[in-house]
Amino acid sequence: MHIVVCVKQVPDTKIIKINPKTNTLDRNSAPAILNPYDAHAVEEAVRLKQRYGGKVTVLSMGPPQAVSALKKCVEIGADDGYLISDRAFAGADTLATSYALFKALEQIADKEPIDLILCGKQAIDGDTGQVGPGIARRLNIPPLTFVNKIEEIDVNHKTITVHRKLETGVQVVQSTLPCLLTVEKEINEVSYSPLPNMIKAARFQPTIWTVNDLAGVNRDQLGLKGSPTVVGKMFTPPKPSAGKKLEGSADQQVRQVIDILFKEKKELFAWKGEA
Ligand SMILES: Cc1cc2nc3c(=O)[nH]c(=O)nc-3n(C[C@H](O)[C@H](O)[C@H](O)COP(=O)(O)OP(=O)(O)OC[C@H]3O[C@@H](n4cnc5c(N)ncnc54)[C@H](O)[C@@H]3O)c2cc1C
Repeated sequence: MHIVVCVKQVPDTKIIKINPKTNTLDRNSAPAILNPYDAHAVEEAVRLKQRYGGKVTVLSMGPPQAVSALKKCVEIGADDGYLISDRAFAGADTLATSYALFKALEQIADKEPIDLILCGKQAIDGDTGQVGPGIARRLNIPPLTFVNKIEEIDVNHKTITVHRKLETGVQVVQSTLPCLLTVEKEINEVSYSPLPNMIKAARFQPTIWTVNDLAGVNRDQLGLKGSPTVVGKMFTPPKPSAGKKLEGSADQQVRQVIDILFKEKKELFAWKGEA
């Protein structure tokens, strides 16, 4: 089985600051990490390799520094990795990102057919969750989103059975292979990396492809040029002001609330003509 996991390097959004002047992310204020959902996707691919045999390849589109995210994947247990990196990819929205990754996946599959593609449910910076389904649509393979359990793979009949987390419960779905899964964090616990993996990761260098290495790519569909999405406005929501603590008995506090509402929220009572 050849499993390819698409991984993104993201700023650690638990730490990142917003530039108050430009209202954009100050990417220098936080370390770059492997998107946490993608770490779970790689862990799951490695577990599947242990169960069914085969190989795990990781693929990322990003700047040269994204090599460190691929090294992290090797620490988790990935065997091979590709980085597509070129100024031509810069400024890509989800449409252009999924196109570039699709072209790279086609090229990887030419060398070694792909049975399964895994993505995270979403990237913690962009948060759209669109790239996985976008890739599946372009490859014309089934997308199975929000997967929180892989029940089994029938290698002979080339099928997979997964659990999808829905708002109303769990949906058990069987699909033919190849297909693309986007995974939830609860699919597994990412294990501590054994020392041999860490040594392998330290020495690991992925194959780096520029735009010239992608056969038959349409440059008009890449980067800013291929991105119909326009960010209209970005702003930091105003911080809510501190609440007011009321004192006294319950009756007194209710009276105070009514007084405040009459003074500060007159529009609530305007229909009664009492304000
Ligand atoms: C006009 C515009 C310009 C932009 N310019 C830039 C820019 O210059 N630089 C920049 O970093 N972002 C830029 N972005 C953000 C960029 O569009 C998204 O980060 C990117 O398309 C992925 O979308 P997402 O983060 O919502 O990923 P999601 O769709 O939430 O990601 C889901 C999964 O898809 C896979 N995936 C997502 N992105 C990648 C990737 N790059 N490589 C491999 N796998 C991936 C991962 O498995 C991930 O878990 C721009 C966006 C817009 C709208």
